[in-house]
Amino acid sequence: MQASSGRKDESSFRDYAAEARGCVPEFYRENHARQTLEFVLEKKAQYLPLRTRRMGVWEAFEALADLVDDSDPDLELPQIDHALQTAEALRAAGAAPPMVLTGLLHDLGKVLCLFGEPQWAVVGDTFPVGCAFSDRIVYPRFFDANPDARDPRLSSRLGIYAEGCGLENVHFSWGHDEYLYHVLRPHLPPDCLDVIRFHSFYAGHREGAYAHLEDPRDAARLATVRAFNPYDLYSKSPERPDFAKLRPFYEALARELLPPVLQW
Ligand code: FE
Ligand code: FE
Repeated sequence: MQASSGRKDESSFRDYAAEARGCVPEFYRENHARQTLEFVLEKKAQYLPLRTRRMGVWEAFEALADLVDDSDPDLELPQIDHALQTAEALRAAGAAPPMVLTGLLHDLGKVLCLFGEPQWAVVGDTFPVGCAFSDRIVYPRFFDANPDARDPRLSSRLGIYAEGCGLENVHFSWGHDEYLYHVLRPHLPPDCLDVIRFHSFYAGHREGAYAHLEDPRDAARLATVRAFNPYDLYSKSPERPDFAKLRPFYEALARELLPPVLQW
């Protein structure tokens, strides 16, 4: 632990038991009680036509300026700082330009908060709905309050899915990952889209739960997410990146890979 700079060593990130900000357990209590299959299908029908707003990447960051993520035990900085820290860590490691841009954009789906969604429907770890909740999801006891956990079909091992159906065919708890995946799907390469779509699926990419739903391509998808994860997690630092200095580089990168205006 480098106490002087305020940075934490790797073992202390995502330490929910010891260092969680006070709001984190309350966040997951509500998230786990309310993320049902029905809720997820409703949000997909509402948002995935992508007719809520048209805006560019920088407009989205400006809109997110004041959002602090209640589910994150490690970070109380604005989203743009976390975005730049992640992207800069990837750039320093020599990642390909689309993956550096993915580092910058990976949490931009949190604009859902600006559209009126509560944080429990935007941020936090994601997990499959429509089948049994794994006890390897963070705070599993909070699923006792989820109506799907009392539905015999939705609480069975496979639920509404077939064995090996593939993660791309599974409905995940609604939030910024799935939403941004759909926004960027026409524009980024598959490995970047996998990172965006599954980066909060810790029960899968870290704990190995839900292997019975994976198809043969999912091992590679989750390996890509795992490779990205340290840049997301361990780049978190209270030192604020110099946005003004970095902005021209990232503007050029975004211009190269994305249209000036995106459908949200
Ligand atoms: Fe995220
Ligand atoms: Fe992140």
